[in-house]
Amino acid sequence: MLSRTPPAPGLRIPDTQPILRTVLTYSGPEGAPEEMANDLRLTPQRQAVLDVLRGSPDHPTAQDVFDRVRRTSPGIGAATVYRALNLLVAQGQALELDLGDAAARYDANTARHDHVVCTRCGAAGDVDAPLPPRLAQAVAEVTGFAVTGHDLTFRGLCPSCQP
Ligand SMILES: [Zn+2]
Ligand SMILES: [Zn+2]
Repeated sequence: MLSRTPPAPGLRIPDTQPILRTVLTYSGPEGAPEEMANDLRLTPQRQAVLDVLRGSPDHPTAQDVFDRVRRTSPGIGAATVYRALNLLVAQGQALELDLGDAAARYDANTARHDHVVCTRCGAAGDVDAPLPPRLAQAVAEVTGFAVTGHDLTFRGLCPSCQP
């Protein structure tokens, strides 16, 4: 009963992972094993959430994502959006970030990168500048860790918030 559906433009799905039925058919109790199989499907709602996230370089909160998804999918509920975000994060299609403010922020850019955050308005962006290669080495020397990665958050005032 599996039908292959072509992925939407811009959607990266490994060839080894077929897109299964796009309708969630499981209706049993929460947390049952069958739910894991359903997680591999990109339901229309989950696709809508992913589309919004990929068009949102400002690292939105879950509430922001919900507000934006509702513009194109007016019937969608907050719980559905929040659950879709959690699943996208669990599947590695989105990052959940703690940028130092109250709510988690979401990012469709899953490649390793650093962030800059405004301490006044919360504006957040990706840092594309290369960081000194000595940095990880210095941390390794000080801590004795074999450092395999890092992600940094730089804080300050964005151009709009500077006096
Ligand atoms: Zn700002
Ligand atoms: Zn980012």
